[in-house]
Amino acid sequence: MNDCIFCKIINKEIPSTIVYEDEEILAFRDINPVAPVHILVIPKKHISKLTELSDGDEIIIGKIYKVINKIAKDENIFDKGFRVIVNCGEDGGQEVGHLHFHLIGGKKLGTKICE
Ligand code: 5GP
Ligand code: ZN
Repeated sequence: MNDCIFCKIINKEIPSTIVYEDEEILAFRDINPVAPVHILVIPKKHISKLTELSDGDEIIIGKIYKVINKIAKDENIFDKGFRVIVNCGEDGGQEVGHLHFHLIGGKKLGTKICE
């Protein structure tokens, strides 16, 4: 957990462009955006991946979706739509071991959601 890059972003040990923050959730721009809007929304609690949810974590997951809606409004993509992606584990293409929700939009996205 201590060498988790997203925990370091939470602790401001690594700089990021933060677009939302509260006691439990942080959202910041992806360093390598795939669309005009590409934001990562994460719980401040270190959860390594979707399959590692504990009892009670469903509350923070619900809050994350509410925050995603708020950010979508702030980024002016709420009405036109967007995509939310969670990569999980090796086959899911997860590279950073701290649960994160990709909020992607600002352009017409392809219809294929996987390759
Ligand atoms: P994953 O493949 O794990 O679902 O996505 C990890 C995402 O984190 C990638 O889109 C990558 O560009 C982003 N990322 C990795 N390191 C950093 C960083 O230090 N800062 C920011 N802002 N994004 C990062
Ligand atoms: Zn972490």
